[in-house]
Amino acid sequence: MNSRELLGRYFRQQAELDMPDPFIDRSLLEPLTWKRVAEASSLSRVRDASGRQHAAASAPTLPRPPEPSRKPMDLKSRLSSLRPVGDLVASSPSTAEPLRRESDGTVSNKREALKELFVAGCAKCHLAQSRRKFVFGAGNAEAPVMIIGEAPGQDEDQQGLPFVGAAGKLLTTMLAAIGLDRSQDVFITNILKCHPPGNRNPETAEILTCIPLLYRQIDIIAPRAILLLGRIAAHALLDMTESIAKMRSRVLNYNDIPVMVIYHPAALLRNAQYKRPAWEDLQQFQTLLASMDIYGSLPKK
Ligand code: SF4
Repeated sequence: MNSRELLGRYFRQQAELDMPDPFIDRSLLEPLTWKRVAEASSLSRVRDASGRQHAAASAPTLPRPPEPSRKPMDLKSRLSSLRPVGDLVASSPSTAEPLRRESDGTVSNKREALKELFVAGCAKCHLAQSRRKFVFGAGNAEAPVMIIGEAPGQDEDQQGLPFVGAAGKLLTTMLAAIGLDRSQDVFITNILKCHPPGNRNPETAEILTCIPLLYRQIDIIAPRAILLLGRIAAHALLDMTESIAKMRSRVLNYNDIPVMVIYHPAALLRNAQYKRPAWEDLQQFQTLLASMDIYGSLPKK
């Protein structure tokens, strides 16, 4: 079965809004596992305005799938494995030294630095009064990939973790579809760290007040690639005003870090027509990561 047939089969299965769990039939993911993509040597590459090389916008045609090199975790296990960054950094070695910047510009002791930032907290805007929990972020401080959404929802506000509601479950399976384990391979956070009442969009003043915290997180984690979820996250981080339709399918740039934008998982839950472009964008992001050999640097299971 070729990739076109696989994609057609995928979309027929996903035709209804009520997505099955897991979101994607694992058998359809095998051709796209990280190992296979890393092996695909025919990736075409382009240069952006900064001269940095990236994978071309179109995903390569991938050869026959190998056996998955990772045993997929079930969704319940994935979610139960999530830990707030406070717990995560608490388990870091007690010998951790204070944050310092190396001569090559990299930051050492990332967990400790994130812990300091988390413990410091924030009450710089009025959302601190209405929030239940400060949703700092979760994942691996050493991860090569950061996933950035818009703002915590109600579920996230209750649990203090990003992306744990329905959209979060979908995000987990989307990441698994491109061979990323959300508890080990990525660090997930939002532009805003506090829940806007009524799930309204973040206000400009709130974003301007909160985004320095995100800048600091990026500075500490120093990801090699960033995936932005939705228009608001893209506008805030990239200082762009284009529609998501114009921003998606492109390799953008934030401080020399390649960035891609995809539809927010919550939008996919509301609009079935976004599923196809979202899946195509995920494949392109997978191609980008493979072209940078990021999969080869992930922690082995
Ligand atoms: S939304 Fe951001 S700036 Fe406002 S209180 Fe929360 S962390 Fe601080």
